[in-house]
Amino acid sequence: MKILNGAALAKKIKSVLAIEIEYLVKKHERAPKLCIVLVGDDPASASYVKSKKKSCNEIGILCDLNIMPFSTSQDQLLALIETLNNDPEVDAILVQLPLPKHIDQSVILQAIDYKKDVDGLHPMNVGLLNISNDAIIPCTPKGILSLLKAEDVSITGKHCVVIGRSNLVGKPMAQLMLRENASVTVCHSKTRDLAYLTRQGEILIIAIGHPNLVNADMLKEGAVVVDVGINSVDGKLVGDIYNSIDVTNIEKKAAAITPVPGGVGPMTIASLLENVVEIYKKRVIK
Ligand code: NAP
Repeated sequence: MKILNGAALAKKIKSVLAIEIEYLVKKHERAPKLCIVLVGDDPASASYVKSKKKSCNEIGILCDLNIMPFSTSQDQLLALIETLNNDPEVDAILVQLPLPKHIDQSVILQAIDYKKDVDGLHPMNVGLLNISNDAIIPCTPKGILSLLKAEDVSITGKHCVVIGRSNLVGKPMAQLMLRENASVTVCHSKTRDLAYLTRQGEILIIAIGHPNLVNADMLKEGAVVVDVGINSVDGKLVGDIYNSIDVTNIEKKAAAITPVPGGVGPMTIASLLENVVEIYKKRVIK
């Protein structure tokens, strides 16, 4: 079974971007700039934000971190977003999710200027993904597609089964695979006979957030498996399938799999950096 090494590819993408950014900064006399907004002190969110900022800084992207208290009101957050939307120096805006329950996430996502919406979650980008090649694509699906392509996984005509239908991962992933000419099945918590469908997946993308829900018996022989899940089990980071209790049988059955950690996670960050640079280029290159 082949390991699809997202960490190695992400490293390569970052070094290519660093060279490109050095050139662009000389030419346009300013660096790309991302503003991240974090509301509250959720430790997981704080850790994701920290690693996004670190990755930006490593390759020459300016990254401003706006940390707001948990008690921030929706109107206060909207005011900050408006300021960032109107700031000519800010290329890209990322509001770290989830937001506290008293703030309506969809109102906030819709308030971001869709041209600065680095996560591709604004309805305009969601729509553009469905009908054109001009969308800002959500980072995790974008990273998964880059990894599959870099590993020469052929997609056209394949049956791709996606488990999970979130706006962040499952839905845009399905749309991207459709765009790549796969036949796509999307499964979710109400799906009847999940195993019947997963056994047909030549490419199986698992984005559930529960370990051990999918086992080797549910895989098609020779499937390419993408494990998006991030779970903490006994203080250890595990995926939805990669390090599951059925790992020996999975290794025998799958042709390839993304590891956790070191698979989809680093590719998500690499795609975020790519999105920042793409947005910046659209803004500075007239
Ligand atoms: P989410 O919004 O909670 O969505 C989970 C999806 O799984 C939902 O569509 C849900 O179905 C489905 N599901 C839950 N139980 C199921 C079951 N028993 N059978 C079939 N489907 C089931 O999560 P998400 O944001 O998409 O993230 C999914 C996982 O990926 C999480 O572990 C998250 O931490 C991880 N993640 C990783 C990265 C990365 O960079 N590696 C990035 C993003 C997310 P319903 O819609 O019916 O509820």
